[in-house]
Amino acid sequence: MTNQNKRYRRPRWHIAQFKVEEVPGKVRFHDLFLPIALMRAIQEVGYEYCSPIQAMTLPYALAGHDCIGKAQTGTGKTAAFLITAITDLLEHRLEEQYVGEPRALILAPTRELALQIAEDANSLTKYSRLKVAAVVGGMDFDKQQKQLTEQRVDILVATPGRLIDFMNRKAVFLDQIEILVIDEADRMLDMGFIPDIKTIVRATPRNENRQTLMFSATFSYDILNLAERWTNEPVRIEVEPKVKTSDDVEQHVYLVSSDEKYHALRRIVSQEEADRVMVFANRRDIVRDLTDNLKADGIACQALSGEVPQNKRIRTLDGFKEGKFKVLVATDVAGRGIHVDGVSHVINFTLPEDAEDYVHRIGRTGRAGKKGVSISFACEDDSFQIPAIEEYIKRKIELEQLPEELRSDEAVVASEKVKAQAKVDKAEAEAVADAEAEALEAQAADAQVQDNAVDAEPEVDGEAPVGEVTRVEVQDSEDGPEITVEVFVQDPEDEDDETESSDDSEIATASASDDEAEQKKDEKGNV
Ligand code: AMP
Repeated sequence: MTNQNKRYRRPRWHIAQFKVEEVPGKVRFHDLFLPIALMRAIQEVGYEYCSPIQAMTLPYALAGHDCIGKAQTGTGKTAAFLITAITDLLEHRLEEQYVGEPRALILAPTRELALQIAEDANSLTKYSRLKVAAVVGGMDFDKQQKQLTEQRVDILVATPGRLIDFMNRKAVFLDQIEILVIDEADRMLDMGFIPDIKTIVRATPRNENRQTLMFSATFSYDILNLAERWTNEPVRIEVEPKVKTSDDVEQHVYLVSSDEKYHALRRIVSQEEADRVMVFANRRDIVRDLTDNLKADGIACQALSGEVPQNKRIRTLDGFKEGKFKVLVATDVAGRGIHVDGVSHVINFTLPEDAEDYVHRIGRTGRAGKKGVSISFACEDDSFQIPAIEEYIKRKIELEQLPEELRSDEAVVASEKVKAQAKVDKAEAEAVADAEAEALEAQAADAQVQDNAVDAEPEVDGEAPVGEVTRVEVQDSEDGPEITVEVFVQDPEDEDDETESSDDSEIATASASDDEAEQKKDEKGNV
């Protein structure tokens, strides 16, 4: 080779270009002795250390063991099984391989998940010659058939129904499968795919002659039964769901009434910092209504639920990833397992019925070290879910009042009116209290005068007209009843006249009603 030729050769990549410090307690991909082409791809996707499920699974899986892993989306399980499959295929090259005979098969319950896995597989095989194909329902059948029949496929990612269609048409044969991955087995079970998977598994080599990796978010009795049948002496690995902490997701749960929710949602999605928002609701009809209302309010928004046709769902998801619209409203089934980077806000319009879904939902934001915000609305219909969620996430949820800026205009106006009225009421109450205090002081002073006057009888007031009744109001004690004293200054000439005036009859309690007072006065007048 001439020097000139050398100059134009593509520079080779060297593992020395991928430097990751050794950190106690962390497993680097370097520590697993992976093929160089795979390491280069791992560097390019930006992984440095294994996630817990990867650190636990890879040593066994790379050694050829079957594994059953309890792990959810967000744990890094996809890379765990892809790295296993890619390593195996690169390390055991075949002399000959036929079209329509994949070597690794990955089964996933939904199209979105299958396409996501295929995308990750493409990234991780970028520097190898391995070929990846996806066959999923709801998308161009002929194109997928061509992919299978016109070129070699090493890694096939499939949803069960569409794969069976191609098996029946003899477009694909599974007898050369070396690695079988069954992802989200629990959802396969929920979605009624088990008979299809049985058919597919029967078309692959016996379990001693293939490696099987099975992942499920739960290890129910049924799942463990299926694992028993499909795997061979599996290693069982469990990873607790990665509960997002306040470090990466700022979580709020607002106490709202059901009719406050929509206004609050509209306000949140209108905020400038809410640039990519996922809204979750428990039912399709709620998803539909919310999407319609947000659109009507001028917010770029799309729905992702079971009632949206498949090809539209994929376009929707792509559009959301590309930032063509700001808000994606989804149900849990449609929203699970999708990877969209840079989701700024997750809003739980309704709290999920299953506590696990709360973690799945809020895990859509705060990814890849970025900060995220999750806002949940708890109203009269769904706040009863909170204790189960708290128990699941192992921490207390602090319920907050809806901040004023998220309330509807009417609610804000109403609350401002209430506040203004409260201020007026307070001012009035203070004024009345002051006036009463003043009056009491004045009365107390009068009472003092009157006491002196009564003691000094007959010189009442000095001015009391002789022979007439003079009425004076006094107070018995500081907070005692008001008393009306009526004084009769007897004409000394009538000194012998017996009057019925006694202390008792002269003092009428002012605590009595006006009527009583009037009555006493009348009685006195009758004296
Ligand atoms: P998964 O659980 O497979 O859905 O993966 C969740 C997310 O974690 C994906 O966005 C992956 O690209 C990312 N991921 C997987 N493994 C690693 C790793 N070792 N380091 C950093 N990110 C990872």
